Amino acid sequence: MKDRMYKKGDVLEVVITDIGIGGEGIGKLDGYTLFIKDAVIGDTVKCSIMKAKKGYAYAHLDDVIVRSPYRTDPRCPVARSCGGCQLQEMTYERQLEYKESKVINNLVRLGGFEKEYIESIAEPIIRMENDPFRYRNKAQYPIGYDRNGELTAGFYAGRTHSIIPVNDCLLGCEENKQILKIVLDWMRRTDTSAYDETAGTGVVRHALIRKGFATGEIMVCLVINDDRLRETDSLVEELRKVPGMTSISYSVNTDDTNVIMGDDYVTIYGSETISDSIGDLAFKISPLSFYQVNPVQTRKLYEKALSYAGLTGKETVWDLYCGIGTISLFLARDAGKVYGVEIVPRAIEDAVDNAKLNGITNVEFYVGKAEEVIDRIWTGSADRPDDVVAYEMTHPDVIVVDPPRKGCDELCINTMLKMNPKRIVYVSCDSATLARDLKLLCEGGYELKRICPCDMFGNTVHVEVATLLERVRYAKEYIQIGIDAEDYYRIKDAQKESR
Ligand code: SAH
Repeated sequence: MKDRMYKKGDVLEVVITDIGIGGEGIGKLDGYTLFIKDAVIGDTVKCSIMKAKKGYAYAHLDDVIVRSPYRTDPRCPVARSCGGCQLQEMTYERQLEYKESKVINNLVRLGGFEKEYIESIAEPIIRMENDPFRYRNKAQYPIGYDRNGELTAGFYAGRTHSIIPVNDCLLGCEENKQILKIVLDWMRRTDTSAYDETAGTGVVRHALIRKGFATGEIMVCLVINDDRLRETDSLVEELRKVPGMTSISYSVNTDDTNVIMGDDYVTIYGSETISDSIGDLAFKISPLSFYQVNPVQTRKLYEKALSYAGLTGKETVWDLYCGIGTISLFLARDAGKVYGVEIVPRAIEDAVDNAKLNGITNVEFYVGKAEEVIDRIWTGSADRPDDVVAYEMTHPDVIVVDPPRKGCDELCINTMLKMNPKRIVYVSCDSATLARDLKLLCEGGYELKRICPCDMFGNTVHVEVATLLERVRYAKEYIQIGIDAEDYYRIKDAQKESR
């Protein structure tokens, strides 16, 4: 009875047979689909319909009637209301299984790849060795008022902007709680208001806290809706007592936006950056720079990406979306030359410093949109056919990309195809946009050879993936030199290899 219409308030009993993209449980009654947040695959639940559509409905989990073997008790008291940990009530083993199949399903459904083929090239997910808690080195707590008008720090409830008071997210560092207490106490003492996003009034919007796990160094950056932060002496006085406190700053953001940080920051105590290390490389990180949140898993992910790059010491490599140069520096030690591109200028300043800090000289960084920078370099080199450096830059051996969730811009993909490297390593934090981009790259002459998911974000639905593509066809778009493009690249590749 596909068209049977349930209505709001109906109470139903259903067996959960699948997991949705947001981690919710999915159950079916006579072909009618129910999406039930917090229901775990294998549960039999009692639920009530909140919103009914033709063919499907969203329902509230009222009761678990039969507990799934994959169900586990959540450790965090606000696991359900916070919305950050969509899978905390699922055993870790089952979470991993879900993430592996999510990646494969997206590649099949959205990338058009054959399921058997993908399964044959997929490596098992790289799991977290320890308990999947306390693994995050970074927290961004919104500061605001709770329902009673009390100053509070916490998390936005689900998809909303109302703040649930929580000062100790169990994915984050133990120090966060103490730091937030100091910040809120200081706000009360000095009558510093919290930002009210509907009215656009008030001062403190967010507290960013970051810790270098390898060094113990801690950074606090308050995001404010004012031209400067006032009465900071007593704030600094208290915060500096926290063991490891290395950098205290604020960042001005007066825009009505979901973007958390402002464009710049002002240091009010200690150094501008904190340090951390991944493997044997050291990194400096400023408040505005992207830095992977799970450093333990990051190392494993980078090692996988490096092995996919297949470097021998001679190669020219692009690292697009390079952040503070983490992957670039990992690659540089095994490559001839690495070029990094990143849109955030502060991150590139960090990248340049990080190269120096590690004594790495064969890297060069560019600030800008990856798609624009490589397109400009590609187009510019056409006028200089004898320029060796331009040739190397536009004909790299390997391109590594690690874009944000929205994936690569189409211009970026097209320019990568023109540059036509032997290998492309695509590191992704969203397997849906990854699937879309891999499809384009494969249509453009590449073959997907390997995929390896990595669990960086235990208890959440997010999963990181490293993939390897190899060139199977030479790009034909640009026969500039009067000989067949395939021959041209074969000759060039042979020359490179004989060097
Ligand atoms: N590879 C880095 C960063 C990956 S996160 C690491 O592992 O640490 C993605 C990065 O892409 C962020 O630093 C973000 O600022 C940057 N970014 C976003 N859009 C971009 C674009 N169009 N061009 C270049 N960089 C971009």
